[in-house]
Amino acid sequence: MNTIKFEDLPISDDIKKAISDMGFEEPSPIQAQSIPVVLSGKDVIGQAQTGTGKTAAFSIPILETINPEDKSLQAVVLCPTRELAIQVSKEIRKISKYMHGIKTLPIYGGQPIDRQIKSLKGGVQIVIGTPGRVIDHINRKTLKMDNVKMVVLDEADEMLDMGFREDIETIISRTPEDRQTVFFSATMPKGILELTKAYQKNPEHIKVVRKELTVPNIKQYYIETRSANKLEVLCRLIDVYNPKLSVVFCNTKRGSDELVSELQARGYFADALHGDLKQTQRDIVMDKFRGGTIDILVATDVAARGIDVDDVEAVFNYDLPQDEEYYVHRIGRTGRAGREGISFSFVFGKEMRKMKDIERYTKTKLIKHGIPSIADVEE
Ligand code: ADP
Ligand code: MG
Repeated sequence: MNTIKFEDLPISDDIKKAISDMGFEEPSPIQAQSIPVVLSGKDVIGQAQTGTGKTAAFSIPILETINPEDKSLQAVVLCPTRELAIQVSKEIRKISKYMHGIKTLPIYGGQPIDRQIKSLKGGVQIVIGTPGRVIDHINRKTLKMDNVKMVVLDEADEMLDMGFREDIETIISRTPEDRQTVFFSATMPKGILELTKAYQKNPEHIKVVRKELTVPNIKQYYIETRSANKLEVLCRLIDVYNPKLSVVFCNTKRGSDELVSELQARGYFADALHGDLKQTQRDIVMDKFRGGTIDILVATDVAARGIDVDDVEAVFNYDLPQDEEYYVHRIGRTGRAGREGISFSFVFGKEMRKMKDIERYTKTKLIKHGIPSIADVEE
């Protein structure tokens, strides 16, 4: 266990007060280990599982590093999705709520560029953006990179998965040589090590060991059910457990659309979140989900990564993920912020082998769960 307290870290009282308001009592292991190193000015690769507090691990040092008197752009955070950019920007605003003169702006595709340009003209020190839109602003000269002291890649593995590598390289190479470059990621694929070689100077690799990566407050079940029965089983589980909010994962966009139609036809408030939706549509879906207008979000992996909604009480692996790492990301949508969560993985036949891989990878045993009977549902 880490025994470092926020008081032990060299951070200002304004920030300490704000994080205490946010309910953070002590730093998570990745925060305790990386905040002092990032504050020292070193380049860092911080690796820790989803849900371990990586956002604050870089947001706190950013806020300590920038000069509020200087109205030029000083820190750039790159995120894989619009949702994540908004989320990170909200977290930075919360952490800086007692600080004066700090301006933060999320910039992403799908929002009118004119509005962003107008906001940028007001003098923004911290930009949190998706790569494409950041490049767009650089090309329009509405983002000036000359004074950038710090570049952060959030969910770096995810950004590489989504094909942002060239964009990332373009952006980093527009910033001053003497900048600080910080990567945060749940996994460390080869692509990140290549970026590290090209863009970081003597980076320190801070890795929170697997043991701390597991998510103890999520009850993980598996259910053996044939494809043809999955819909029925899903409905019964939702009826029996009645989770406040649920995320249901499908492996394909088509599968998620079809499932949404089936659920809606049965009177459930469900909607889909996947890569085919326009940004504005995704925004609407997420607002509905956060507000509880829909309580079932049917998502594909790419669309749902990084989504941080505290009231998600259940995650369903309607389709078992292709990759063990995705499993961890998926179930990490529940059990957020120390709450309890529950996950159900539907498996059948040869998928049992995949499940064993997942168990080995996560070093946990999934608990077998029976199929609820109609009687259970009607109780
Ligand atoms: P990651 O980026 O590693 O997936 P996040 O930064 O999104 O994780 O944090 C996950 C959740 O944990 C958020 O709800 C966040 O507010 C909460 N959190 C972060 N740090 C702490 C802390 N030190 N104490 C309590 N909760 C925290
Ligand atoms: Mg994150």
